[in-house]
Amino acid sequence: MTSASPDTAPSTPLEEVHAAIARAARIAGRSPADVHLVAVSKTQPVEAIRPLLATGHREFGENRVQEAQSKWPALKAEHPDIVLHGVGQLQSNKAADAVALFDCIHSLDRPSLLKALAHAMDAAGRRIPCFVQVNIGEEPQKGGCAIADVPALLAAARDADIPVLGLMCVPPADVEAAPYFALLAKMARDEGLSGLSMGMSGDYETAIMLGATHVRVGTALFGARNYSA
Ligand SMILES: *Cc1c(COP(=O)(O)O)cnc(C)c1O
Repeated sequence: MTSASPDTAPSTPLEEVHAAIARAARIAGRSPADVHLVAVSKTQPVEAIRPLLATGHREFGENRVQEAQSKWPALKAEHPDIVLHGVGQLQSNKAADAVALFDCIHSLDRPSLLKALAHAMDAAGRRIPCFVQVNIGEEPQKGGCAIADVPALLAAARDADIPVLGLMCVPPADVEAAPYFALLAKMARDEGLSGLSMGMSGDYETAIMLGATHVRVGTALFGARNYSA
C-alpha cells in the first residue's frame, strides 16, 4: 500500500469535530450546515491558528480584546473572509475596540454595555450582530443578563438598532448542561430569535441536539490552554 485508505487515515481534531457536529445534527434532524463552528483560539499563538486557516476554516473566537488585537488584524489582512467572534465578558470602555475588531459579539449582557456598543457602532458606521448572553444558571459571580431582564434588554437593543441574532449561555460547570441548553432554546423561541450560541468542547454535541446554531469550541480543536505562556 502506498497511501492510507480513507478508513485508516488519521483525522485531525478539526475533522473529528466536524464529524461529531454532523453526527449530532443528523440525530436532531438538522443540517450540519446550519451549525457554525467557532474555533475559540484564546491563548493560542498564531502558529496554532494557521493550520486551521490553511484548511479553509474561517470562524474564530477570542475572549479578550487586547489579545485579539495582537493576533487578528494581520490574519484578517491575509484572509478578508475571516469572521471573528468576541465571546468573552466585555468592559464598556472596550466597546469601540470590540466593534472595530469583532464581526459578531456574543456577550451583550447589560444596559451600560448596550449603550456603549450602540455608540461605538454609530461612530464606526458599522452594525455588529450580537448575541444576548444569559446567566442561565443564575450564578451570582457569572456574566450574563438575568433571565428576568432578558426581554427588556432585547427591547433596548431593538431601540438602539443593534442586530440581535439570538441568545448565548455558558451553563454552570460540572453539572449536566442539557436542561440549561433547553431553557435557553425555549427563551429564544419565545422571543422569536433563531440564533443559539451554546456548547463548548465538553458539550457541543448535546447543544446541537438542542438547537445550537453556534458552538464555541477551543480545547477540542487546539488542545489544553497554557495560561502561563
Ligand atoms: C474558552 C471559551 C470557550 C471554549 O471552551 P473549550 O472548553 O476550550 O471548548 C467557549 N466559550 C467561551 C465563552 C469561552 O470563554
